[in-house]
Amino acid sequence: MMILYDDQFKKREDVRIDIEDRAYQFGDGIYEVIRVYDGKPFYLKEHLERLEKSAKKIRLNLPYSLDELEDRLNQLIKQNDFTQGNLYLQVSRGTAPRNHAFPKNSAPLLIAYTQPAERPVKEQTEGIRAITAEDIRWLWCDVKSLNLLGAVLAKQEAHDKHCKEAIFIRDGIVTEGSSTNLFMVKDGMLLTHPADHFILHGITRKITLQLADQLQIPVSEKKFGKESLFDADEIFITSTTMEICPVVEVDGKTIGDGCPGPLTRRLQEAFKRLIPSKTEA
Ligand code: PMP
Repeated sequence: MMILYDDQFKKREDVRIDIEDRAYQFGDGIYEVIRVYDGKPFYLKEHLERLEKSAKKIRLNLPYSLDELEDRLNQLIKQNDFTQGNLYLQVSRGTAPRNHAFPKNSAPLLIAYTQPAERPVKEQTEGIRAITAEDIRWLWCDVKSLNLLGAVLAKQEAHDKHCKEAIFIRDGIVTEGSSTNLFMVKDGMLLTHPADHFILHGITRKITLQLADQLQIPVSEKKFGKESLFDADEIFITSTTMEICPVVEVDGKTIGDGCPGPLTRRLQEAFKRLIPSKTEA
C-alpha cells in the first residue's frame, strides 16, 4: 500500500514521522475521512472544503490548493487500486522544537492513505445500541481537529457497555455522537442539532438533510434535550463510514418499537441510490 506523504508516494515502511511533529505532540492538525465507493471518492469536494474551513479556523496554511489535493488523492486511489473503503487524510502544523506557540518556520505535513472497509450493512439493517455521555470536548467541535481524546473516551465507554456509539449531552442538550451526527424523528418531523460550533458539520448530515428535503420530510434544526431521546419515534446516526444507521436502544431503553423506523429506512434507501451502483454490500 502506498502512502501520500506531502507530495510523494511512499511505501508505509519508508514513511518516517518526526518525534517533534506537532500532530504527535499537540494533536495540532486536522483531518478528513472520505468514503471511496467503486474506486470513486464520495463527496470529495465537500470534504476538502471542510478541511479548508478547519485549517482557516486553526490558522494553518494548507500546503496545496484543493484542486492539487483532489488530484493527488485520486492518484493515491489509482496507485493502490483502491475500490472500497476509507481514505484518511491529515495535515499537521509540521515539525519544530517543542513549544506551544506556532513555530516560525515549519512546513505543514500532509499524509493520506487508504483503508479497505465494507459497508456496515448489519448495523444498518438491525440498528445499533448507544449510551449517552457527557460532552466534555472543547467548544470548537466544528473543527475536525486531531485532538480526539473526548471522543475516544466516550467511544470506549460505549464499547465497555457493549454499545456501538456514545451520544454526547452538553448542558442537558443532545449534540452529536462521538464520531457521528445524530437525528431523531418525532411525529413525522426530523430533528437534529443546528450546525454551530457544538457539532461537526457532517457531510453525511448535509446529504441527509438534502434527501429529507427531496422526500418532503419536514426538518427542524433545533436543540433538544436528553429526555426527548427516550420519547423519540426513531433515532439514527450519520457519518461517512456508518452512512445512515438506526439507533434502537439508548442507555438500555428501547427506542420506538426497537426496530429501524420507516423514515430512517426511506432515508437509507435514498442514500443508497447516491452510491455508485457497482458497490458491493
Ligand atoms: N461528528 C463527529 C464528532 C465526527 O467525528 C464525525 C465523523 N468524523 C461526524 C460527526 C460525521 O461527519 P461525516 O458525515 O462528515 O463523516
